[in-house]
Amino acid sequence: MIAVDPRNTSRTCPECGHTAKENRPTEEKCHCLACGHTAHADTVGAISVLRAGLVRRNVNPA
Ligand SMILES: [Zn+2]
Repeated sequence: MIAVDPRNTSRTCPECGHTAKENRPTEEKCHCLACGHTAHADTVGAISVLRAGLVRRNVNPA
């Protein structure tokens, strides 16, 4: 189990990594202003949490 800070996950573009509150025009939609990628916010959040967990695991191997 890896704890991940969820605060910015649904604001971060899974395609290019751009993070901005403007990426989140509505509660359930994500639209990246940097690359134009669109996705459901839950999908973006899940991908971002997964990536953050993998990054942390690589930094701190058990
Ligand atoms: Zn993007």
